[in-house]
Amino acid sequence: MKLNSVPSLLSALVAAATTAQAADVGSAFYGDAPDEHHPWAIHDHNRPQPKLVTPGTFSSQDQPGKPPSDAVVLFDGTDLSQWEADQGEGQPTKWVVKDGAMECVPGSGYIRTKSKFGDCQLHVEWAAPVKVQGESQGRGNSGVFLMGLMEVQVLDNYDNPTYADGFAGSVYGVNPPMANALRAPGQFQAYDIVFRHPIYKEGVALDPGHVTVFLNGVVVQDATMIEGGTGHKARTKSGPFPDVGPLKLQDHGNPVRYRNIWYRSLPPRPAQGGTDGYLSTEATRAKRAQIAAEIREDAAKLKDPNNPLPEMLRLAESLVYDQDEDTMGKAQRLSEKYMAGLQTLTPEQLAGKKDEIKHLRDICKYLVKSGSIPEDAPAKLLLDQMIKEHNWDKKK
Ligand code: MG
Repeated sequence: MKLNSVPSLLSALVAAATTAQAADVGSAFYGDAPDEHHPWAIHDHNRPQPKLVTPGTFSSQDQPGKPPSDAVVLFDGTDLSQWEADQGEGQPTKWVVKDGAMECVPGSGYIRTKSKFGDCQLHVEWAAPVKVQGESQGRGNSGVFLMGLMEVQVLDNYDNPTYADGFAGSVYGVNPPMANALRAPGQFQAYDIVFRHPIYKEGVALDPGHVTVFLNGVVVQDATMIEGGTGHKARTKSGPFPDVGPLKLQDHGNPVRYRNIWYRSLPPRPAQGGTDGYLSTEATRAKRAQIAAEIREDAAKLKDPNNPLPEMLRLAESLVYDQDEDTMGKAQRLSEKYMAGLQTLTPEQLAGKKDEIKHLRDICKYLVKSGSIPEDAPAKLLLDQMIKEHNWDKKK
């Protein structure tokens, strides 16, 4: 991961160093510093920008919507090239494609993706047969199996009661949907699912995983904890999932149709090595050291024999993430050089630097507060003294 480009850092540093009101967003020394569970400061301008995604469009009954730009399309209504029978590898499925949708051929078995994936945002649209046949679990039954293991139930529950934990939008046999927001049979229903698989380490759940489901835009599962793979009649058993698995769609004996199937992979959680969120102290320490190392690399590019300030500030900034004696020494030498430069200025020139000097003192205060430099750091003492001598803290 790359930090912000040097030019943008330079402008942030210049802003930080030269503007009296620079203690604002964009300054390196602004929000609460990193702590033992958060490697980033509050409003940290070193933190990577969110990736750009062009949003898609919503579907109508007549036309499927367009997926977001970074989606992996699993079925676009044309062919089943990305799917196979859920039997031996490479076995063709008997499901058919008709009118822009794939249709389950009863008795042909489940269908699965050839590719495997894990945590995702998944979009699936399905339609129960127009001709209503059967009741309860026998009417328009199919299922979306995340990683092939956990079923979000597909069922025609339009005017068709069944057991609550087997409704459309249920985590089958585990948790009923919070609402029945189904359209009439024959119409396409949309599932938008956020899935996080269980993560275990040496038999202990680091994160049990969870699933959130929207049915036609209505939330029906809200971060429901995953209690294991789902099944019929039997209570699920918690346990690890593999990292990835195929998406499966169920053949439950009804010609249910599907269209517009795509997913987006999700970034890792802290339990998978992700660095956003609440981290362990160990992971936080490692990430803080990495951020500091990258800042120090940038600092080296700011070296300027005529102006020690940008490099000094960048090095000081790195100390907020990670203490390092070498860096402390370098920053100290640069600050001495800067202070020596101030001594050569005429009183008028020095007065012209009042705002810069006061802001540098504020930065020192920030560094002391965050435990990055000691209270009696020479640079801070000198700046304090200079500001006191010139009475620059006095309110007009
Ligand atoms: Mg089912």
